[in-house]
Formats: sequence, C-alpha cells, structure tokens
Amino acid sequence: MSTRALFREDAYRTRCDVTVTAVDEQGIHLDQTVFYPLGGGQAGDAGTLTFADGTVVAIADTRKAKFEGATPDDAIHVAAPDQDAALAKLAVDDRVVAEIDWAQRYRRMRLHTASHLICAVLPYPVDGCSITTDYARLDLATVEPIERDEVEAKLNALIRGAHAVDTEWITDDEMAARPELVRTMSVKPPMGLGRVRLLRIEGVDLQPCGGTHVRNTEEIGTLRIEKLEKKSARPRRLVLDF
Ligand SMILES: [Zn+2]
Repeated sequence: MSTRALFREDAYRTRCDVTVTAVDEQGIHLDQTVFYPLGGGQAGDAGTLTFADGTVVAIADTRKAKFEGATPDDAIHVAAPDQDAALAKLAVDDRVVAEIDWAQRYRRMRLHTASHLICAVLPYPVDGCSITTDYARLDLATVEPIERDEVEAKLNALIRGAHAVDTEWITDDEMAARPELVRTMSVKPPMGLGRVRLLRIEGVDLQPCGGTHVRNTEEIGTLRIEKLEKKSARPRRLVLDF
C-alpha cells in the first residue's frame, strides 16, 4: 500500500495519474501522489481526484498514513465532509487524476523556504514551526534580543539575493554523524527510509527537510515580520507573512 511521493522530487508538479490502492476510515490511499501530507510543520495539501467521467472528489487535507510498516511517504487523502456521493463511486484499482490546489501550495512553498532563511538570519534552535497558506510561524529557543526591522531587512536581502534552492540525499548513518545540521528540536529529520533529504539554499543554509520548496529564493517575494513576541522566558515567536 506504499505511496510514491512525487512532490519530493518535483515540488512544482501539480497533477498526476494515480491508482486507488485502498479506501478506509483514514481516507484514500493512492499508489503515487503530488499531495504533500502534513508534516515537518507544513500543512497537508488540498485538491481534487477526478474520474474519467468527470466526477470530482474534493480533498480537504492530506495526512501521513498510519498502518503497520507505514513509511513517512505513505499518505492518506482526506475527502471534504460533503463528498459522500462522489466517494461512493471510488473503488480500489480505479484510475483517477490527482491535482493539488496549486495557489495554496505555492504560497506554502514560498513561506517554507523563507522559514529556512530565518534559520540563517537567526541561528537559534527552532522549537516548533507551522507553515500555512497565509503565514509561517517559528518558535526560536533563545533569550537573545531580536530586532524586528533588522531581521526583516536581512530576510528580504536573502530573498532578493536569488539563491538557488536544491535537495540532496544522505544516508541515515551520515545524518546521525552530522547532528549539527538539525535546526528543529521538535521535528526529527525524516529518517526511516534509509536516506534523509537535505535542503540546500546555496551559500545560505543546509538542513534536513522533507517539505516542498521554491527553486530560487527570488520566488518568495517581499515578506514582512508580522509579529515578534516573547512567549515566555525562552521561545521567541516569529510570524512571517506576505
Ligand atoms: Zn523545512
């Protein structure tokens, strides 16, 4: 029942032909997918599954599948609550076209890459993050004072710097030998597949990440630090938006 995660090789792929492998109480399992399942702070994709006859199943969310032996790539596609009629048609081995809500995903890609840039501007451990369609929120474990205007200026300079963004893979053993690459305390690198994906922002940042990103920082566009607050003694909460 394993899913081929096409978004890890090409985050810009918006649709693919798929085969339904199971439909259960968790949702719809497909043999491959362009839908990103909630994880690493990034929200799960929404979109559609379309039958050859034009029937559409609206997908509201994508999650990691839970079953014995599931890998981090195994995804379940969760139908919107009012999709019962279309869902009743869906059966194992059906061929459908899976297509993500690209406008939503692209905003998340831009914000996710920006949140990695923040790690370069503010090199503190990340104690939680959330990448949504409208904003990215990062909790930084530090007591250091953070100057909002300065952070915003540095972030936008990196964005305008047009740095290439690429992925590379290392083995689980190589990852274990390089703990300094991990910035996020609450999100473990996506291990368990024998290899770990690293996201490199040329000349700026390198860290494990299974998320979807833009190809060049220029695509992010100008961002602002919407909020910077002291949550308690330690985490500084930073909210980025467009
Ligand atoms: Zn990431």
